[in-house]
Amino acid sequence: MGETINVTVWNEYRHEKEHEEVRKLYPHGIHRVIADYLNSQEGIKADTATLDEPEHGLTEEVLSRTDVLIWWGHMAHDQVEDAVVDRVQKRVLEGMGLIVLHSGHFSKIFRRILGTNCSLKWREEAEKERLWNLAPTHPITRGIGEYIELPNTEMYGERFDIPEPDRLIFVSWFEGGEVFRSGCVWERGHGRIFYFRPGHETYPIFYNEQIMTVITNAARWAHTGMTLPDNCPNSKPLEKLSPKSVDFGSAGVVQSREDIG
Ligand code: ZN
Repeated sequence: MGETINVTVWNEYRHEKEHEEVRKLYPHGIHRVIADYLNSQEGIKADTATLDEPEHGLTEEVLSRTDVLIWWGHMAHDQVEDAVVDRVQKRVLEGMGLIVLHSGHFSKIFRRILGTNCSLKWREEAEKERLWNLAPTHPITRGIGEYIELPNTEMYGERFDIPEPDRLIFVSWFEGGEVFRSGCVWERGHGRIFYFRPGHETYPIFYNEQIMTVITNAARWAHTGMTLPDNCPNSKPLEKLSPKSVDFGSAGVVQSREDIG
């Protein structure tokens, strides 16, 4: 295999501390379950970061060695410091991958980088979801069949207020009748972004082998292998330019009455 992909799994890590039913499912946090799975995969090294760490665990140093950032948040989006959002956005534009999960649709970073409200319909009735694989040759769906079926999920329904995705990877059908664009990719600057819908905290979604396969595939896909700092240079011509007879350029505009003749 090639170089190691360094993934940082960021989790708000509040539900697991405050709600007994979530703690039972994820006693060490959602981030721990995702990172442990990724660390069992060839060529991936995953670390974690959480909201209550200094700078939310996303210091310049951590971000500079992160190839792909995974984001789960829900009840404390507004507690994420804008300075950290700025820092993450800058890194994405330079080429860091970003995978946003489930309720991360309302995170500051997701809304910032896409530029829309990212609102949707929702309902928590433990209904069935079928995620249809629309892109069977895309790297993100490698090893996934025609669909993924989840027996119990929270419903997310259209309209999902996102910019048109560069490519739609999954569309979900829900038992209650709604549909949803559950797997979407975009590029912003040099960075690749994947939104993946499943992941409600009261269901064992991140123990599902197919869901974790998609997240692993997405981490590999989002890894560009390079980052390019932004710059906007004044540029010398590559060829010798011919002398020009005007100081300011004319664009074919008539200069005076005499020019008309
Ligand atoms: Zn949820």
